[in-house]
Amino acid sequence: MFKGLLITQEDKKSTASVVELKEDQLPEGDVLVEVHYSTLNYKDGLAITGKSPVVRSFPMVPGIDLVGKVLQSDSERFTVGDFVVLNGFGVGEVHWGGLAQKARLKSEWLIPLPKGIDAKHSMAIGTAGYTAMLSVLALEKQGVTADSGEILVTGANGGVGSFAIRLLNRLGYHVVASTGRMGESDYLKSLGASDIIDRNTLSEQGKPLQKERWAGVIDCVGSHTLVNACATTKYGGVVTCCGLAQGMDFPASVAPFILRGIKLIGIDSVMRPLQDRIEAWQRLSELLQPEDFDSMSEEIGLEDVVETANKLLGGKVRGRVLVNVKAS
Ligand code: NAP
Repeated sequence: MFKGLLITQEDKKSTASVVELKEDQLPEGDVLVEVHYSTLNYKDGLAITGKSPVVRSFPMVPGIDLVGKVLQSDSERFTVGDFVVLNGFGVGEVHWGGLAQKARLKSEWLIPLPKGIDAKHSMAIGTAGYTAMLSVLALEKQGVTADSGEILVTGANGGVGSFAIRLLNRLGYHVVASTGRMGESDYLKSLGASDIIDRNTLSEQGKPLQKERWAGVIDCVGSHTLVNACATTKYGGVVTCCGLAQGMDFPASVAPFILRGIKLIGIDSVMRPLQDRIEAWQRLSELLQPEDFDSMSEEIGLEDVVETANKLLGGKVRGRVLVNVKAS
């Protein structure tokens, strides 16, 4: 027997609680993993609280990412004792995920724990840090350099936003953080933001073209914020879009695209090919330092997950939430 957080559904109402599970309840897969750490992402918060239909079949163990040790393997890529990392691929949505002490997974979803990052730090990074890295790589690949000008990061206090600021800062970019929590300005500056702006300046409907400011944008919130970010991006600039914390809508005009030639790059971390994942994790291991992890993450146990998921959706969590699954 082992412990796991299980979401069940009755009369269209879902409930999440920590229960004892058996190995033979786990879904099919060619690798059995002893999970050491998972994390709490915005998507996990939606799944656990039932606020959005993230979970596609019940019962479900949530947890879209995990790190752990291989206990059994029918795959040539992994042997018993290897440490593996998983982000996405529908885990925690359609296949039981990381918020349990064991997981049975498909080997094609797994990458080896990158050299230079230990298990705990890999989940302090988690899907948020990996998505932030994919966003930064997208700016780089579109030619946005540290000399191009200011980079706007929205949803700055969130997991993706915090990591984006830290990574951009390490690469020498001038970062402006947009947040609804101006009281956390010192934290955002400690991560490497040069300036902080109140997210209210971006969150309402604005003109299709506004004063040009940003060479690049990493947007985590969508809706009017993303539209205004596009409307204030400089000629030829690049906007990446990964999140929907404000909303899934995009009530935009084509003006910034056809008159300023800006580019909007969608960032998907879930179905990302293995090669892109390996590149992103390699860059994370080069850019992050051990001291980054403590300032950007708090650690909880499985029993604390439901309460923390509610706080996360209420915008009351700063940075990353690491779930120590093994110790629970
Ligand atoms: P998070 O830790 O909950 O952070 C979201 C942040 O967005 C909050 O901390 C808050 O920052 C800001 N925010 C919240 N409500 C808002 C509102 N109504 N208007 C404007 N800003 C608001 O979430 P996360 O893990 O960083 O993820 C960020 C987004 O990216 C989520 O939508 C998530 O689903 C998405 N995501 C997508 C992918 C992908 O593959 N595309 C991967 C990971 C995450 P401030 O307090 O600083 O304002």
